[in-house]
Amino acid sequence: MTFSLHGIPVSKGIAIGKAVLISRAALEVSHYLIEVGKEEVEAQKLLDAFEQVRLELAQLREGLPKDAPQEMAAFLDVHGMILADPALAQKPLKLIRTQRLNAAWALTTELNDLLEQFAEIEDAYLKERANDIRQVAERVLKALHSQKKEGIDDSDFLSPGDIGADAIIVAHDIAPHDMLRFKERAFTGFVTDLGGKTSHTAIVARSMEIPAVVGVRHASEMIRHGDWLVIDGEHGVVVVAPDEQLLSEYRLLQKKAVEETRKLQELKHSRTATADNVAIELLANIELPEDATQAVELGAIGVGLFRSEFLFMDRHQALPDEEKQYQEYRRVVDLMHGLPVNIRTIDVGADKALGAGSDISQTGTSPLGLRAIRWSLTEPEIFLTQLRAILRASAYGQARIMIPMLAHVREIDETLRLIEKAKQQLHQRGQAFNPNIQVGAMIEIPAAALVLPLFINRFDFLSIGTNDLIQYTLAIDRADHAVAHLYDPYHPAILNLLFNIIDQAKRANIPVAVCGEMAGDPAMTKLLLGLGLTDFSMHFSQLLLVKREILKADVSLLRKRIPAVLQAIEPEEQAQALERLLS
Ligand code: PEP
Ligand code: MG
Repeated sequence: MTFSLHGIPVSKGIAIGKAVLISRAALEVSHYLIEVGKEEVEAQKLLDAFEQVRLELAQLREGLPKDAPQEMAAFLDVHGMILADPALAQKPLKLIRTQRLNAAWALTTELNDLLEQFAEIEDAYLKERANDIRQVAERVLKALHSQKKEGIDDSDFLSPGDIGADAIIVAHDIAPHDMLRFKERAFTGFVTDLGGKTSHTAIVARSMEIPAVVGVRHASEMIRHGDWLVIDGEHGVVVVAPDEQLLSEYRLLQKKAVEETRKLQELKHSRTATADNVAIELLANIELPEDATQAVELGAIGVGLFRSEFLFMDRHQALPDEEKQYQEYRRVVDLMHGLPVNIRTIDVGADKALGAGSDISQTGTSPLGLRAIRWSLTEPEIFLTQLRAILRASAYGQARIMIPMLAHVREIDETLRLIEKAKQQLHQRGQAFNPNIQVGAMIEIPAAALVLPLFINRFDFLSIGTNDLIQYTLAIDRADHAVAHLYDPYHPAILNLLFNIIDQAKRANIPVAVCGEMAGDPAMTKLLLGLGLTDFSMHFSQLLLVKREILKADVSLLRKRIPAVLQAIEPEEQAQALERLLS
């Protein structure tokens, strides 16, 4: 039966394909469809892993010292009972036999289902049992993993052949780094239950240029593995089991989109200036060094934001050392052929977790917590290592340092002191760097926007992170779909803040860009031009769309109409002023 689900559109386009359901825990384990005929071998692997854990638990129980606390024995007994309950293996075995999921995937799918059921239970004691189930399942996963190490199964996380090109990923949630791993694999779209429009997961999805809808509550429960799906990434619609007529309508839309993209390519080589000849600079946001190639090809005149933290988020690898980082930064600098590259220092925390391979203090998940520069300043050795790597790359091109999430003057002072220290260290080593490297600050906390002269006096350039500026001004977690409807770039407070930052920076003659998602949204281009913006940094997939708007815009007219927009506090008044601005 055909039905549709609605969520938050994050990446445009129409995708038609088959659902591949991925459970949260499954993102951390091997995940593939087993060959036809190998179902029983796979089922046996799971049974062997259960047996291995049963023996382990029995050994632990027997080996308990006499003076061990009583709870220890009770704890192992409970785990033994959970393991012995045939229900835990039953469903995974069925998934292996009927849907050909590999054993770890099947088990984590069941684990997720159980955890969700437990989450709804009120009783605190029973709720606590969810932890026991998780621990038992994790032991079994570990046992499966050790079979893998012994050479029984050499598959890796979603090996390239696992997912067909017409696959649409459906998941409860996907961490930004896991999303990035999908980048290397061909698939056609993705849908998640959670997420907001400017969550980092959504940003990475957009960078892959495939249709995506997030915040589709219960999608991963209502969609079954193998269901045919249509994703309308522009309107945030997911159609499940579409009929022939719907399919042909969507195929037509798909064709039109391809034609539009082809036409846009014609703009690649034209100068970027408004209709009244105001020159505009378009720069690229990148997550991976190799993205720089496409950025240049599409006409970016620099990298406005290199989110360096993605080098630090691989949960299977140790943090990159100075040499490894230097090579990556150098790669971007080389690919950009002398154009500026703003390397944003590590911004982990909130929805971006550090790779688990690291043994350093964790950052926490609160967007108000130990994030970005706050974290870097608590880990000065890691920060210095990164600064030295960027500085070394600066000997070969225009690498620049950009600092995220500054608000306090003592953070600025400490950051600048450490940059000087990193320079000194390189000097002592006799290694080359640009002593006049430019250092910029991201303006993404309202406090920073309200004391802008502090930043203007101390930095070479500014870049407005509207994703966070909106999050912190409106007190809305950008990754939380429950408040996604309140995430409003048009809020009068936001527009006035933006105008004031750009205006003050221009008066002080310090370069200012916007590198948040607003800069890459063609619906916002004229508004930003009216607010006085001339430097836009966005994912390269948006460059030509934004350029098309710029070529049509008349800045002198927009500037005249902007005061009415800024003064409008009432929604209707603002809608009218915006309509007039864009007309
Ligand atoms: C921003 O906050 O707007 C920004 C560009 O940085 P990030 O999205 O990585 O937080
Ligand atoms: Mg930010």
